[in-house]
Amino acid sequence: MTQPVLVIGAGPTGLSAAYHLGSDALLIEQENRVGGWCRSIVEGGFTFDYAGHIMFSNDPYVHELYELLLGENVHWQDREAWIYSHGVHTRYPFQGSLYGLPADVIQECLVGAIEARFGPLSAKKNGKNGANGNGASHAASRDTDLRPGAMSFRDFIEKVWGAGIAKHFALPYNQKLWTVPLEDIETSWLEGRVPLPDLETVIEGALRPSPKPMGPNARFGYPLRGGFQALMNGFLPHLRGPLRLRTRVVSISPNRRRVRLSNGIELPYERLISTMPLPALVKALGSEAPARIRRHANGLQHVSVRCVNLGVGRERLTEKHWIYYPEDPVFHRIFVQGNASPFCNPPGGFGLTCEISYSPQKPLPCQGDDLIRRCIHDCESVGIMQPGDPVWVANQVDLPTAYVVYDHDRNENVAAIRAWLAQHDILLAGRYSEWEYFNSDHAFLSGKQAAELAAKPNDDEDWDAVGASEAGERPSL
Ligand SMILES: Cc1cc2nc3c(=O)[nH]c(=O)nc-3n(C[C@H](O)[C@H](O)[C@H](O)COP(=O)(O)OP(=O)(O)OC[C@H]3O[C@@H](n4cnc5c(N)ncnc54)[C@H](O)[C@@H]3O)c2cc1C
Repeated sequence: MTQPVLVIGAGPTGLSAAYHLGSDALLIEQENRVGGWCRSIVEGGFTFDYAGHIMFSNDPYVHELYELLLGENVHWQDREAWIYSHGVHTRYPFQGSLYGLPADVIQECLVGAIEARFGPLSAKKNGKNGANGNGASHAASRDTDLRPGAMSFRDFIEKVWGAGIAKHFALPYNQKLWTVPLEDIETSWLEGRVPLPDLETVIEGALRPSPKPMGPNARFGYPLRGGFQALMNGFLPHLRGPLRLRTRVVSISPNRRRVRLSNGIELPYERLISTMPLPALVKALGSEAPARIRRHANGLQHVSVRCVNLGVGRERLTEKHWIYYPEDPVFHRIFVQGNASPFCNPPGGFGLTCEISYSPQKPLPCQGDDLIRRCIHDCESVGIMQPGDPVWVANQVDLPTAYVVYDHDRNENVAAIRAWLAQHDILLAGRYSEWEYFNSDHAFLSGKQAAELAAKPNDDEDWDAVGASEAGERPSL
């Protein structure tokens, strides 16, 4: 039986694409379960996700999907996101919640934030008029240009947040997470992701404790039972086309419109929606992809994440939901899995996920049991665990492709590959195919958009928009 649209990958994007295509879709997944990086594992009564995952979205349709997929199996909480630095916890975002840090750190952060807007205070003391002669900052946060190429991430941090916030949080944390030099990263992905409090908020947050969360994900949802996986499994009763698990797409022939599967079978398709990582997709095309497309794919950079999951034998280690660590610990973030839902823990236990980013530029410091021991040691040194806390469960999951890097060539590389593929009726959808910083809510929408486009005749102008432009233009549906 031939389905007109073949969908590679049953993560949130592929599931959404297949759901929206109905019986026209054949969904192919290499793993034995759906969900992609939104899967969960269960061990010893603990549920852990593939890195911490929460639900949040500003899109009403995504909330309709949450309702469809989870029904009553959900609970919403006010976010408790924190940062641990200089021996104290402060609320996220750092720049809006300086209260509690050592006085000299607060002073440096405030002076830096003021100077970023109005120029060096030393120049003012000497009767001069600020950095650029007219008293205005070279990059005031309100009119910061975040378009690709406008400025590097490092410049953004220093010019918008100022030298103190850069030094005490933004540079060390982001360097730890992204692993590549921050001057190699552009800023188009920041919009809506990074809270930009104004100067009054920075000062207020330094004088008294910040009462409530700020920023785009101040309240979040999570499945009550079944981990994040439950959200993904929610699609299963609604899929109308076939789903093949444990089946990998090993090669693709755009000229013959066929894919070859790991079981040796060749399948024809009319349209292909790929959610697999873009470099792997181009590799699967073999020599049918022109050399310039392979060069563009080789230029794409990413960061990997290793999660060390700890099931600790003590209840309620903390009230927090996740904590960022810009300083020494091997992990850059702990996701407090035990607070995502009470049903993530067995009686008397509490789950933590230590997230460690790595890449060729920043390899993991050690592997296996050594890495687990290192995480337990660092959890004790930051106070989330106490020496002697029993560890009932310790395991690791690896996300080889976790964060796509917005280097200065990304936009051009992705646009060129996307345009060439569209000419061959191959659509890219999702975080790793579109090479975008998408969360699962964007993944749902991206899958829906690809399904709608795949259902249109390819002389439709939306197809022209994907196929014709190599300048990064996207069809608007
Ligand atoms: C550290 C981290 C934290 C995150 N936190 C959040 C969060 O809090 N909230 C949130 O909403 N999102 C979060 N995300 C993002 C979320 O995980 C992604 O947006 C989402 O997983 C992307 O879905 P996808 O379907 O596009 O890709 P994937 O999840 O990668 O799914 C792709 C699927 O394709 C399959 N596949 C690949 N190659 C083949 C092949 N050749 N043949 C067959 N199948 C194949 C894979 O097995 C996989 O199942 C986080 C991501 C990371 C890395």
